[in-house]
Amino acid sequence: MEKREQLYEGKAKRVYATKDENSVIVSYKDDATAFDGTKKGTIVGKGVVNNKMSNFLMQILEKQGVKTHYIEELNDRETVVKKVEIVPLEVIIRNISAGSFARNYGVEEGIVFDKPTIEFSYKNDDLHDPLINSYHAIALKLATKEEIEQIKAMAFKVNDVLKDYFLGLGVKLVDFKLEFGRTADGEIVLADEISPDTCRFWDKDTNEKLDKDRFRRDMGGVEDAYKEMMKRVFGE
Ligand code: UDP
Repeated sequence: MEKREQLYEGKAKRVYATKDENSVIVSYKDDATAFDGTKKGTIVGKGVVNNKMSNFLMQILEKQGVKTHYIEELNDRETVVKKVEIVPLEVIIRNISAGSFARNYGVEEGIVFDKPTIEFSYKNDDLHDPLINSYHAIALKLATKEEIEQIKAMAFKVNDVLKDYFLGLGVKLVDFKLEFGRTADGEIVLADEISPDTCRFWDKDTNEKLDKDRFRRDMGGVEDAYKEMMKRVFGE
């Protein structure tokens, strides 16, 4: 499959048309942003890690019955995926307190929850992705009630599968963000990416951060953290 015209350029990926109207090619960049795009940088090799890891995880999820946009990996940075209309909601699942949860509720990071939590943000750059509840999302026609129910069930299923998978690699899946899309036939599928950009990963024994927080918080060792996660997933 070959790239045709560029359809879109986002913060971390470019999307190209293909000869098939129902498929697009995603190309992962090394560009990193944080804090609503105000912090910018490069994480060398990130595009390769995120592409390969996301594709691998989506295939694990497909085997467990979660429909995804994944079609075929073309090379280190490029993948054919189903063309979808993205549901403008960021779906966040948390197993352990961190980030905005710790900040908003004035608690420390690292509290292990008895049950995972879910929340939505409205994907809207002008409004800075505000938190939104499902009633408001339905009122704004961002998704139907049925779609929201399906998205919730799929997101918790993704958590069940990936939490166990990463624990087997000595990694705690602290929290993560998912995006969903509608295919041409109106089916809801998991889209976007699952990577150290969109998940918090802590080493099981040391709680060392192995994700984008190292970039957000200027901790150093950013590239090494991405490489370490690659090693845990794929071996040497
Ligand atoms: N996240 C993301 N994109 C966003 C916001 C959050 O991928 O625009 C991910 C983030 O990497 C973390 C989880 O969602 O794994 C929860 O993020 P949180 O709400 O704690 O936000 P932050 O602390 O980054 O402001």
